[in-house]
Amino acid sequence: MTYSTPIREGYRQELDAIREAGLFKQERSIHSPQSAGIRVEFPEGAPERDVINFCANNYLGLSSHPDVIAAAHAGLDARGYGMSSVRFICGTQDIHHQLERKLTEFLGTEDTLLFPSCMDANAGVFEAVLDAEDVMIADRLVHASIVDGMRLAPAVRDTYKHSDMKHLERKLQEHQDKRRRLIITDGVFSMDGDLAKLDEIVALARQYDAMVFVDDSHASGFIGRTGRGTHEHCGVFGEIDIITTTLGKGLGGASGGCVSGRAEIVEMCRQKARPYLFSNTVAPMIVAGTLKVLDLIFTDTSRRDKLEWNTEYWRQGLIDLGFDIKQGDSPIVPVMLYNAKLAQDVSRDLYDEGVYAIGFFFPVVPKAAARIRTQLSAAHDKEHLDKGLAAFAKVGAKHGILGLGKQEIVDRFGT
Ligand SMILES: *Cc1c(COP(=O)(O)O)cnc(C)c1O
Repeated sequence: MTYSTPIREGYRQELDAIREAGLFKQERSIHSPQSAGIRVEFPEGAPERDVINFCANNYLGLSSHPDVIAAAHAGLDARGYGMSSVRFICGTQDIHHQLERKLTEFLGTEDTLLFPSCMDANAGVFEAVLDAEDVMIADRLVHASIVDGMRLAPAVRDTYKHSDMKHLERKLQEHQDKRRRLIITDGVFSMDGDLAKLDEIVALARQYDAMVFVDDSHASGFIGRTGRGTHEHCGVFGEIDIITTTLGKGLGGASGGCVSGRAEIVEMCRQKARPYLFSNTVAPMIVAGTLKVLDLIFTDTSRRDKLEWNTEYWRQGLIDLGFDIKQGDSPIVPVMLYNAKLAQDVSRDLYDEGVYAIGFFFPVVPKAAARIRTQLSAAHDKEHLDKGLAAFAKVGAKHGILGLGKQEIVDRFGT
């Protein structure tokens, strides 16, 4: 027998331990397209409910946009369902190159290479462009896929305290003996919604002869005046050496990612990045859909403008109700609850009120930093936001947390 009883029992015990620790993750089946309003079945077998979605990365509301769907249909008809090949054998179509050129223009870089996902872009890029004489210096809160990508690279690994420029500077000084230094950060940090200080990071990179890497997955399409990303917001458009981003969030939400940046670096990825070399890239219909997404947002900022308005209205609404909100410039608005059980209870009660927003707690966020992470979308209308705020008001009052600051919540509920 290959799967013996002790092996099965061992896994069952591990899974039980995950359950007992309150860390068991369960999927919820959605019976509708992704949108501001979705139809959800939870728990499994329960009657379906229509709820307002406040936890998708559907920032620009394009996941089910009729023009994007039509373009994807047309792409399917014109270029088929799949490539049945990796890029460099026979898996590249004209539209893959078109999309790469368009992303290059949009992101303000020199060249772009598509990957199956941004997870794959991050898994491939560091190993492709750095070796043992080099050093990677990463913000301590970078996305898990960056952590994994760094593990695969032979370069020296180091970190700096989250957004602490003094600490980053000390690390850059410390590593002046290395051949190449790469500063690594998210553009928008997904748990707190805060932005990297890219202007200061670029200045330090100049001073200490370093390159800059930014993962702009939670920014591409809507951060910055014309939605180009965190580099536009921070006034360093055109100055980032390596940008990775996803097509699976604001840019249509299907799947796919890219490495964009200096021509030689992108070419190194084309030659050496393993997820590019050994895995199929984005399917033709997604390429066609993403081309339409870029058409829609290239010159028309109305979607990112609406998202900005929605975010401000929502943030201020929650503050006026007396919630403890993390400040930031992104459409990620965390409602701080500090206590893991409280976060789960509030999330469940919100669901009963028709609002879908998920509680995050350790290990996804630090201990004693449990929260409900809400995310805004250009698909939300004011009516959605007002209903959402009414639900938050009711549930907040039920738990007696309105008007309480961190210490008062911690005193009352523990951590
Ligand atoms: C979502 C996300 C990714 C992963 O994107 P996929 O294309 O879904 O693999 C990578 N980095 C960051 C910062 C993200 O937020």
